[in-house]
Formats: sequence, C-alpha cells, structure tokens
Amino acid sequence: MLAPASPPDFAIEARGLDKTYRAQGKGEAVHALKTIDLAIPRGSFFGLLGPNGAGKSTFINILGGLVVKSGGTARIWGHDIDADPMNARGAIGIVPQELNMDPFFSPQETLEIQAGYYGVPKAERKTEEILKAVGLWDKRDAYARTLSGGMKRRLLVAKAMVHSPPVLVLDEPTAGVDVELRRQLWDYVRGLHAQGVTIVLTTHYLEEAQALCDTIAIINHGNVIACEPTSNLIGRLDRKTLVVTPCDEIHPPLNGFEDVTFAMRNTGAFALTYKTSEHSVEELLDRVRRAGVTIKDLSIEEPDLEDVFVELTA
Ligand code: ADP
Ligand code: MG
Repeated sequence: MLAPASPPDFAIEARGLDKTYRAQGKGEAVHALKTIDLAIPRGSFFGLLGPNGAGKSTFINILGGLVVKSGGTARIWGHDIDADPMNARGAIGIVPQELNMDPFFSPQETLEIQAGYYGVPKAERKTEEILKAVGLWDKRDAYARTLSGGMKRRLLVAKAMVHSPPVLVLDEPTAGVDVELRRQLWDYVRGLHAQGVTIVLTTHYLEEAQALCDTIAIINHGNVIACEPTSNLIGRLDRKTLVVTPCDEIHPPLNGFEDVTFAMRNTGAFALTYKTSEHSVEELLDRVRRAGVTIKDLSIEEPDLEDVFVELTA
C-alpha cells in the first residue's frame, strides 16, 4: 500500500476500536475498550488519562501490535494497522509501561539491535546522538541489568526512537522515576515535540499532564469520556473559589452566603466557592463588605485538571 502523499491530519485515528480479553481459567472476560473513537492530531502533545484499569495500555498495545483488537480500525500516520502493518509500525515508537529489556545487552548494543530490527542502515543510525540525548552515553557499555530504574526507563525511550518515528508514545513513563530524572526525560521529549514529533503520553501525574499536554483525552472503564484542548477541559468546571483574609477574626456563619459554598481555612481566611455563570467577584465582594468584613487580602483559586478528572470519573 502507498504511503499517504501529504502528512495526515491525525497521527493516530481509532474508529470503533474494541477489545475484549477472553475469559481465562476461572476469570471472566474483560471488555477493556468499548468501541472507542479517538483521533490524535498530528503535532500535538497528547495526554491519555484514566484510572488504573481504564484501558490505556490496551489501546497503546493494540497500536504496537502487542494486543490483538476485537473490532474496529486504527491508523497510525494514515497507515491502517491491518492493511499496512509495516508502515504503521514504522511510524510509531512505543515506550511500554513495563521495564522489559534484555539484561545482558549494553545500551549501545540494545539500540544497534533495535535499529537493525527496523532496517535502519548503519550509516543512518543515531545511536550516539540518542544515547547522549537521554543521558546514557557514559553508560553505553554497561549491562542493562546494572542500570537504575530511571536509566532503564530512559533506555526504553531511546530504543523507541531508533527509527525516528513521527509518533512517540510513552505509557506511564515517569512512574517510579525521581524528580530530577523526570525533568531530564521531559526536556528530551519536549525537544522531540519541538522538532515536530507527535507525543502521546499516559500518566497518573495529572499536574504533569496539565503542564505538558495541549490536548487531553480521559478514558474510564473502556470509554473515552472527554477529548479536548487542555484549557477547554479545565474551563469545563464552571467553578471558582474566592479566598478572603479578613482584618479581624470572623465568626461563622456569615449572613448572605447561603447560595455559595462557604468554608473556613485554618489560616483564618474564608473561602467562597461559586459558579462563575451565577455569580461575579464584584457581587461577592459587595456581600463580603455588607457582612461587615474588612478585607485584608484576597485571591481567586481556579479548578485544575485534578478537579476535572475527579468530577468526570466519579
Ligand atoms: P490501564 O493501562 O488504563 O491501567 P489496561 O489497558 O492495562 O488499563 O487494562 C484494562 C482492563 O483490561 C483491566 O481491567 C485489566 O485488568 C484488563 N486486562 C489488561 N490486560 C489483560 C490481559 N492480558 N488479559 C486479561 N485482562 C487484561
Ligand atoms: Mg497501563
């Protein structure tokens, strides 16, 4: 099959993708993906979020050919994974959730073998460049089994990039990686993204997803329950909190706040959580003054991805 003439709008496009793991032994069948549609825009830094068991790895492993889907279609860089598996697989690099690697090969050997597997000619290999980029050039000759968890994780990222795929997928890449190494990993991945690589990331760290991803899908019990730009997603919660520090100690309940959520903070401040569609800051501040409170300081807290996530997956 011919490669598409121009780059596709979507780096990954799944239509009606379905997966049931068949019952084994006494276990029951698991409907892990429920006929999902998911389109990942080319060039995006895409977050795939969901609680444990939501189906994230199943989705990614179908793309990587490790799990056989039960129904639907998937395209990677325009190549159908059934009709054109070679090109589909060549367009994607996957960093798996599990740290599985051959313990007896060094990082350098690991990358050379992987490049050979993808048919990258010797002259076009970028082993040195990639190992330097992930901070493993010093360790190029060490046995993989002597590497720390963080180093192994970075070696897997390096391994996923040997064939220079336009799409890089990272399945929970920072689980168990310390803060400093996480920062290094993200610097590298951000650099790839800046060069045009589409990044797909699953993570438990919502703060990380909020900081890195421009588009986020939330998956729960095998269903995609949201997929939109990160800012829209956060804007979905029509809710803010006005935190007021009074000059003098107050004694709740204060009158006139029955229609918003009132809460004391242990700093002596009080918090008014309100719907932005129903109340304005102006109006609330008026009411605060009318309640006889002199304002020493105030701030407004906006919901974050964590709040949206909790609300959507509750
Ligand atoms: P996530 O990556 O979001 O945590 P998974 O895709 O790993 O979720 O799992 C989705 C569901 O499928 C879970 O209920 C999980 O137990 C089940 N599952 C995953 N892999 C297998 C498998 N090989 N055999 C049977 N069930 C599986
Ligand atoms: Mg997983």
